[in-house]
Amino acid sequence: SKEKGRNLYTFFEQEMSQQASRHLQLLNSLRGAVSNNEMSLVYQPKVDMHSNKIMGAEALLRWNNNDFGFVSPAEFIPVLEGSSLISQVGHWVLDQAFSQLKYWYSAGQWREDMGLAINISPKQLLDKSFVEQVEVLLAKHDIPASLVEFEITENVLVENTERITQVLLQLTELGISFSIDDFGTGYSSLAYLKKLPIEVLKIDKSFIDHCTTEGNDQAIVRSILSICNELGLTSVAEGVEYQEQQHQLQDMGCDLLQGYLFSRPVPADEFEMLLK
Ligand code: C2E
Ligand code: CA
Ligand code: CA
Ligand code: CA
Repeated sequence: SKEKGRNLYTFFEQEMSQQASRHLQLLNSLRGAVSNNEMSLVYQPKVDMHSNKIMGAEALLRWNNNDFGFVSPAEFIPVLEGSSLISQVGHWVLDQAFSQLKYWYSAGQWREDMGLAINISPKQLLDKSFVEQVEVLLAKHDIPASLVEFEITENVLVENTERITQVLLQLTELGISFSIDDFGTGYSSLAYLKKLPIEVLKIDKSFIDHCTTEGNDQAIVRSILSICNELGLTSVAEGVEYQEQQHQLQDMGCDLLQGYLFSRPVPADEFEMLLK
């Protein structure tokens, strides 16, 4: 009925304006987040599939605000990306991660064969001054770029292909390597894998979740691992929570595993304990 239709419409309208207002409130609070020390990084280990030895970590952003408490990056990163704030926060992430890496590296706790992975949003990558920013920060903290890995998503490679290729090559020249995050969930072709300096494929958690029980997911994981083998890329499984998954992934030959089974993302001092 018309009445019902109108009610439904009003419901959606309210729902949408509520979302819009939450978005605006978050955006407002995010403006001061860096200067108010509300941002921090946590680190999640990536372990060797056979030895369980820690081969590196992924740095993940956390935001703790007085009004909102802890907000998930899945919610606030898109808000940052919708404004120019992502550049400021992204810069802070790099500065903070490099500073922590320098500390571990000089203390002899971070080995040469370990990689620290940092998530880079598409907008950051397209920022005109990004490469220079990275170069300046590497010099400031005096760390070997070979210890640093940038995680990017496939979709960023679809548009602005030429610009992105140039940026990736420039950063590779500095010594930084690249991982494709959430591999298999994007809309791109695989052609970029032979053109771009990609070293790591991270298999998305959605394929790992049921890789022990669902034939289709298992087939997808197998295919990704075979691409890695053929192209000489390192494979990482994300979101490994159960021992059954670990065994399955060991059988299939996935190089590195990351997930709650080994550790949640933890603050720097706790990560340090894991290194001992
Ligand atoms: P992502 O890059 O795919 O990161 C993996 C997410 O899975 C993280 O969520 C991590 O905490 C979570 N995770 C890891 N192992 C497990 C597991 O075994 N089970 C489950 N259920 N989850 C697991 P988080 O930290 O909430 O981050 C969400 C997303 O926010 C990230 O997804 C990434 O896209 C984005 N993000 C986080 N930090 C940054 C950052 O510094 N910069 C940018 N641009 N994006 C970031
Ligand atoms: Ca990631
Ligand atoms: Ca991921
Ligand atoms: Ca993911």
